[in-house]
Amino acid sequence: MYSVAKDKYRTPRAVRAALCCVFLVGSLVFAPAAQANIVFQFDFGSPLTDAAFLDPTYGAERQAALQAAADSFSSMFASHFSNSGTIRLDVTSSNDPASNTLASAGSYLYDYGSAGVRSNGAVMTQLQTGANPFGATSLGTLDVNFAHNWQLNGNLPVSNTQYDFTSTMFHELTHVLGFAATIGQDGSPIFGTKAAGEWDPFTNFLVNAAGVKVINANFSLNQAVWNAASAGGGTLYFNGAHAMAANGGQLVALYSPNPYEPGSSVSHISDAVLNLLMLPSTGTGLSARDFSAVEVGILLDLGYTLSETTPTPVPGSVILLSTGLTALVGWRARRRRA
Ligand SMILES: [Zn+2]
Repeated sequence: MYSVAKDKYRTPRAVRAALCCVFLVGSLVFAPAAQANIVFQFDFGSPLTDAAFLDPTYGAERQAALQAAADSFSSMFASHFSNSGTIRLDVTSSNDPASNTLASAGSYLYDYGSAGVRSNGAVMTQLQTGANPFGATSLGTLDVNFAHNWQLNGNLPVSNTQYDFTSTMFHELTHVLGFAATIGQDGSPIFGTKAAGEWDPFTNFLVNAAGVKVINANFSLNQAVWNAASAGGGTLYFNGAHAMAANGGQLVALYSPNPYEPGSSVSHISDAVLNLLMLPSTGTGLSARDFSAVEVGILLDLGYTLSETTPTPVPGSVILLSTGLTALVGWRARRRRA
């Protein structure tokens, strides 16, 4: 699915990259005129790539569920942040019961060519600057695996045999906003080269337990630090000031499994913490549908702006683990915790 989108959008200097998860779009009007908001719009592809969303029996319900979840996400986002804009995403579907990936999504990346950390998400840029230097109409991708048992209606209870579609879309759309590290298992950027230092803003916040940065001040890779943690020998952390302030002054631990999990490692909060939106996996039943203070802090560190009505995140007790990288970050299904 990703290769299709990649081929479709490849341009000389614009490459989409990979953040994970899903997004919703909404062409519906859902907010008061005075309220800043994100308007999500979705491009459903062909029957070859998007059979589930175009299914003659279930397609309309699935498309409506995606739009409703996106609208809800937009409202939730606006309760914390003031950024607004229209974000259009390429949507695909899968139907793979053997895969434990529930959904995946990401922003396309583009290279703005300056020195240093310079691989930016097209979605992030659109929402933070109002500009679209990426050029294409669609700014990211979203895929949903309909082989799993979803509760599509966000207003109905989520049973212990169903996955929370609304929560999962919230998770995926957050990846689309830039909550994902675009660094590969060997330390290479997903878009660009080590020599060019083309990592993204999220990756620039990665540190080891001692606070040593993965990306050096001169934008070169600290290969030893990266290798030690990415190989499973340690945990990687997020060291943004807002995220740490919301985490009791501590580094935020990111998901750092051994062995490394491409597309999931370092792009999620450590699963040592329960019931957060940006964990690497979710169980059945109702899941998180709001940002925690730490997740708000990470988005602030990535450049998003607090809404005027939102209080500064309150320090919490959440402890996060390390970083991840990715091309496509998937949200894995897992059994409900006992
Ligand atoms: Zn994810």
